[in-house]
Amino acid sequence: MPAQLIDGVALSGLIRGDVATRAAALTAQGRKPGLAVILVGEDPASAVYVRNKVKACEACGFHSVLERYEATLDQATLLARIAALNADPAIHGILVQMPVPRHIDPHKVIEAISTAKDVDGFSVHSAGALMTGLPGLRPATPYGCMKLIESTGLSLKGKHAVVIGRSNTVGKPMALLLLQAHATVTVCHSGTPDLGAHTRHADVVVVAVGRRNTLTADMVKPGAVVIDVGMNRNDEGKLCGDVDFAGVREVAGFITPVPGGVGPMTITMLLVNTLQAAEALNA
Ligand code: NAP
Repeated sequence: MPAQLIDGVALSGLIRGDVATRAAALTAQGRKPGLAVILVGEDPASAVYVRNKVKACEACGFHSVLERYEATLDQATLLARIAALNADPAIHGILVQMPVPRHIDPHKVIEAISTAKDVDGFSVHSAGALMTGLPGLRPATPYGCMKLIESTGLSLKGKHAVVIGRSNTVGKPMALLLLQAHATVTVCHSGTPDLGAHTRHADVVVVAVGRRNTLTADMVKPGAVVIDVGMNRNDEGKLCGDVDFAGVREVAGFITPVPGGVGPMTITMLLVNTLQAAEALNA
């Protein structure tokens, strides 16, 4: 029997409904949640991402600001804009779309955002909070993956989870969130000699590599939960993930499609983080 699809669009709809209700309650108290998104440069993919984030904010009744700058913007001016947004009481979350142009240091940019408004969860403070199990804002993509796994009804306690990819924004925080949920976690990367030797024993596999067909059917334990974070283009130019969807679907128990899986959940968890930041401010 083919795997059950984990529908990120439907789950997003449910969560966004709750977010909109809570946002309306805050707005009624004069505390409308606000997100500022900064885009530096002309990268077309980044422009689509930020537009979708702003649109999602508006649909949930948030205040949102999109600041677009030329790729030549100097770092000092960008840091000054972040400082102004840190001080703006109408803004509860600040996101600088990555990557920034090469003359700007992304670490300086991330660290300039006030901890309370770090809705991407990329700062050293937010990463440290996750690492040590303290409350804080979690990176949206792995946070969304956790919600997708949760939606299958699987309890992670005692299960073996394999994460392929160890980026600071996806792979590493994903591994920590799984660990926090009491899974036994293996992290694989480009130096892992035999990925299948790990994934074949996994109850959950999260693939965040950025390379088509990284996970194929022969690498998957029957019934496993497979979460595909990757975003690639196939030979026809269509969006696809890191997983050989057609093959793996025949073996896995649950699988996320691309598109319609992790992508919508990333934006949804950004909204959740912004709402959480707004609620925390005056709690
Ligand atoms: P990244 O920073 O490039 O990291 C990729 C990771 O994959 C690295 O840790 C790398 O290992 C590992 N890797 C590369 N080749 C490998 C191989 N052959 N076998 C095993 N591991 C390998 O990418 P990222 O930002 O984490 O994103 C990963 C993918 O997810 C991309 O396609 C990205 O577009 C997508 N993404 C999607 C969303 C969404 O909302 N759907 C959000 C974020 C990212 P090393 O560390 O050893 O180099």
